[in-house]
Amino acid sequence: MQNINSFDFTNKKVIVRVDFNVPLNDNLEVTDATRIQAAIPTIKKIAETGSVILMSHLGRPKAKEEKFSLKNIAPKLSELLGKEVIFINDCIGNNVKNKISEMKNGDILLLENLRYYPEEKKGDTNFAKQLSELADVYVNDAFGTAHRAHASTAIIADFFPENKMFGYLIEGELSSLQKVLENNKKPFTAILGGAKVSSKITVIDKMLEKVDNLIIAGGMTYTFIKARGGKIGNSLVEDEFLETANKLVQKAEDLNVKLILPVDIINADNFAEDANTIETAVDEIKDGWMGLDIGPKTIDIFAKIIKNSSTVLWNGPAGVFEMEKFANGTKQIANALVEATKNGCYTLVGGGDSVAAIKKYKLEDKVSYVSTGGGAMLEFLEGKDLPGIVAIKK
Ligand code: AMP
Repeated sequence: MQNINSFDFTNKKVIVRVDFNVPLNDNLEVTDATRIQAAIPTIKKIAETGSVILMSHLGRPKAKEEKFSLKNIAPKLSELLGKEVIFINDCIGNNVKNKISEMKNGDILLLENLRYYPEEKKGDTNFAKQLSELADVYVNDAFGTAHRAHASTAIIADFFPENKMFGYLIEGELSSLQKVLENNKKPFTAILGGAKVSSKITVIDKMLEKVDNLIIAGGMTYTFIKARGGKIGNSLVEDEFLETANKLVQKAEDLNVKLILPVDIINADNFAEDANTIETAVDEIKDGWMGLDIGPKTIDIFAKIIKNSSTVLWNGPAGVFEMEKFANGTKQIANALVEATKNGCYTLVGGGDSVAAIKKYKLEDKVSYVSTGGGAMLEFLEGKDLPGIVAIKK
């Protein structure tokens, strides 16, 4: 496996898989450039001596619609690079090849949306081969799609047996995840929130084998509370996972891991911003009411554990943080992570909604690392091999 820092890109054409799947407004302008920004160090490094061919998907196009064109990304990319970016309205074929043959060292070219070709998602070998014919070197820097075995994220790597490597973004993701999972300083605390137990069972199960403290929050709470006989009113629950919840509690006990559940809850009489609210114990929720955020006692307990930890991993909000009335628990967890970070704790935030939350409170620079990969990060935590990672390493 090659390394981006030491590889000599001089006179090389380098095809880089980036994740430019960014939100656009009605005028087709980029509204959140975080993912583009994240790819800049890799692009700049290669462009110092070689030429850069960028490829990405954008959205889920069924046809070649304007709103899914990578052309919409080029102005923002140019602005962030401080340099002109050449856009070409296809990603394979002779036109693209001709354009690339005219490229000089330092040039940056952006290909059209890979998903205009259904072969991309199918992981089609011939499509991957056609992409590979555009370049001498393959760099994967799209962590967000590393859990997919698509043509551009995994299959293409086989055509570069020698000249393939990760970009800086994936390198950073892997080293921070490894720091947390393998080389963590103890006490190690994981906070797992979000909506459903069903989507987090494997992660909870795996994390129990790694952590000292496992904090459960968010909608998942009530399946655990009901499983041990508590009253949860109309809170979110997955009745088919009650037994699973009890098994996880037992596993924590067997492994001597502290599994910490909320003790008090903000109840709402409606799933709405203007709902009436009351505070109750987590297992005394009345019929007609539902738990939508953690209460003050719980916040104190969670914050103390977080601040006494040396490594913290946070995935999933503590409540329905999209509604201001139920955002406090999530906000206070974010604040506790910031405090812990100041005191030398290594804090990693990952997974779509907790990243959205930490950004909402503008605290993303005050924790140790914010992962860009939602699904990819969860699969990594579950201990699965990610096709995009394996393809480079093998
Ligand atoms: P996930 O994608 O599983 O991480 O879930 C994130 C979603 O869980 C967010 O949209 C939250 O609004 C939601 N959520 C968090 N706490 C609760 C709760 N107590 N009841 C219902 N939904 C919740």
